Amino acid sequence: MPEPESVVEVRAFAPGRVNLIGDHTDHAGGLALPMAVDLGTTVTGRRGGAQVHLVSTAEDAPADVPLTVTAAERVEPAWARYVAGVVAELRPRAGFEGRVDSTVPVGAGLSSSAALELAVALALGFDGPALDLARLGRRAERRASGVPCGLMDQLTSACGVAGHALLVDFTAESFTLVPVPVSADVVVVHSGVSRALAGSRYAERQAQCRAAAAVIGPLAEATSADVATLRDPVLQRRARHVVTENARVRAMATALGAGDLAAAGAAMLESHASLRHDFEVSVPALDRAVEQLMAQPGVVGARLTGAGFGGCVVALTERGAVADPRALTGRGWRVQASGGAHVETSAPPGR
Ligand code: ADP
Ligand code: MG
Repeated sequence: MPEPESVVEVRAFAPGRVNLIGDHTDHAGGLALPMAVDLGTTVTGRRGGAQVHLVSTAEDAPADVPLTVTAAERVEPAWARYVAGVVAELRPRAGFEGRVDSTVPVGAGLSSSAALELAVALALGFDGPALDLARLGRRAERRASGVPCGLMDQLTSACGVAGHALLVDFTAESFTLVPVPVSADVVVVHSGVSRALAGSRYAERQAQCRAAAAVIGPLAEATSADVATLRDPVLQRRARHVVTENARVRAMATALGAGDLAAAGAAMLESHASLRHDFEVSVPALDRAVEQLMAQPGVVGARLTGAGFGGCVVALTERGAVADPRALTGRGWRVQASGGAHVETSAPPGR
């Protein structure tokens, strides 16, 4: 008789994230300055059995995923694709039975998907460096969604550090820590527009960046003079966004490190203008949310955050300046820079 599998009780947590500056730079090997937030996803349950069965407070139907799953992108219900993507990448020895609870708003641009992938991977027994967890999560997301996403969401959720943003270099896939001044608040406001087109437009923008890089070389190393040599006006605008955004990420990281909120805020406003005019991923509701936030005393900078075409605006403010982040559009959050994904199990050491 084979020995019965011992039951392992698990509680895995992974945070959402907000990107302070540096959007549409990750796939071009550039820079970004995201931070993990104090909203996250928790997976609790028991390891064992031959399938992963999860219920979620955010969804009606459960996810039932066999350990042998292959076509993750066709699994139903749709949210189970993220679970299936993780199972296909991790191939855990045992299944799982448990539940998903999340305080990250789903589909709002605060990366509930990365939080789900990483919490599931840890619950199923991923045991390795945080950067490998991030890479596994990205592969799972690509399988699940078909979108060729960059590493930012998963890296931030895996590697977040309390009180800090991560200055990420996507060519090296490495980061340094930048303190978020205690005199500042980070506020996220939803535009009220869902990001319906984000997937297809994201792929299109990425292709345009690749086309520009084919002419002038990697955009992470390109200069404004290189960009000026591009003949196609659309490719020129796309490349100019990436090149100038990388410079703004550096400027904001330096400003935050020096506690210079005004300079940090200015970089955010320039970033929004570049995403709006050069990368063309803003929509009127995002522009309006930026304007409304900037009209409030003590708000030093605001910009769309994430892929664009809807979703959220992030603002940097003097502490306490925005009393109620929900007041503007009905959906908003004050977020703290927080630690990364982690897991607790009842398993004895070495398992
Ligand atoms: P974001 O990552 O910005 O929140 P995405 O569109 O990338 O938005 O991911 C949202 C999708 O991730 C949801 O539609 C759902 O399939 C899945 N998801 C995220 N969080 C949960 C959760 N707590 N429970 C079930 N599914 C979730
Ligand atoms: Mg996501």
